[in-house]
Amino acid sequence: MALTGVQIYKFLPKTNCKECGFPTCLAFAMKLAAGGVELALCPYVSDEGKSALAAAAKPPIRLVTVGAGEKKIEVGNETVLFRHEKTFVHPAGIVVKVKDTASADEVAKTVKDVSGYSVDRVGITFGLDGIAIQNESGDAAAFTKCVEAVGSQTDLPLILMSADPAAMGAALDKVADKKPLIYAATKDNIDQMVELAKKHGCALAVRSSDGLNELAELTKKAAEAGVEDLVIDPGVRDFAGTLVTMTQIRRLALQKRFEPLGYPVITFPGEGASSLDEEAVLAAQHIAKYAGIVVLDSFTPALVLSLITLRLNIYTDPQKPIQMKPGLYQIGEPKPESPLCVTTNFSLTYFSIAGELEGAGWASWLLVCDTEGLSVLTAWSAGKFDAEKIAKTVKGESAAEKVSHRNVIIPGGVAVLRGELEEELPDWKIMVGPREAMAVGGFLKENWKN
Ligand code: SF4
Repeated sequence: MALTGVQIYKFLPKTNCKECGFPTCLAFAMKLAAGGVELALCPYVSDEGKSALAAAAKPPIRLVTVGAGEKKIEVGNETVLFRHEKTFVHPAGIVVKVKDTASADEVAKTVKDVSGYSVDRVGITFGLDGIAIQNESGDAAAFTKCVEAVGSQTDLPLILMSADPAAMGAALDKVADKKPLIYAATKDNIDQMVELAKKHGCALAVRSSDGLNELAELTKKAAEAGVEDLVIDPGVRDFAGTLVTMTQIRRLALQKRFEPLGYPVITFPGEGASSLDEEAVLAAQHIAKYAGIVVLDSFTPALVLSLITLRLNIYTDPQKPIQMKPGLYQIGEPKPESPLCVTTNFSLTYFSIAGELEGAGWASWLLVCDTEGLSVLTAWSAGKFDAEKIAKTVKGESAAEKVSHRNVIIPGGVAVLRGELEEELPDWKIMVGPREAMAVGGFLKENWKN
């Protein structure tokens, strides 16, 4: 049973030293009770207090690891209902399913495509997170053979999908070292699946199609039997049902601290969709609210790219924009006579302008100012992108030593800075570029004379 803020307060030193980042011990206690912080933030809690507070410090949604090694997936340990309250921390794993009824060549091709998929976005490389193997044939030998083949062809985490404990056991014997997720324990097979999870040290998915009460009973049973690394499947598949159920699960876990449902959720959007388009929309809904693992029916690069992009946006800390390191960047292989453009260190802004310069064939110098990750107009209105800042960056990065001209192009959105900047940089000609990055190629074609 979770403790209240007042109960937690009794175990704190009550010195109000503020080292935890809160103005008082009581404020810290209230936040801890709500699951928004970790006890470790207070360095002065006694050992007795620590053990008494263990229940309150326990994450409301358990952190579960699937797979082993560098590519393992970690899901769960979320502490907020809405992203803007703090941030979502463990991005939903995006996994692609293969079936043991497919030919060996088809499976090998999918495994190769999924394992080799990678995309760069805002300077970060993303890929897919795992492969699920479904025992569609119902045959233990076919399943085991398929699992063994997939395991030998990829280092991505695996999810083994079979309701038959015998088939699951045989397949686990081949790939147990990869610590796959066992999917799934149900009311009919939970005892055997729990034993397999214990034997191989793997996380276990628990599924119920008979409501959250039954699901909670099953997770309690698994936890009491010694398997606590659980992933849950509430069994609903349609749009409205998954939205309502997953929201209910998240609320129960965070607001009521209901431990039997305090686990990451696995979803199968293809099973609730009648087309790829519907699967895409449902998968997007699951990523937004509140899937830990999303298993796609097939590998479709366009679908995967859009889901990865969405996931990046949702799991970006709203209080910390994705930033570039300030500095003078080379776009292509610029020469001393190449254009010198200025922008901010918000990653999306940087990659927009860099991409447009590159696409238009303009090798350039791109001077990135430290605006704490804010975009051009936001930074300007917040007083973080002004003439003084730009001038300081031009001088600090020794731009004059890199270029043979004295022309600097500022974003059209901050044309108002031109006059002040001419005063700050009297040796430079200040050119006002376009407002939109996409127009930079045309702008340079018309205005760049070097
Ligand atoms: Fe109180 Fe500990 Fe926070 Fe200091 S660090 S204010 S003692 S809770």
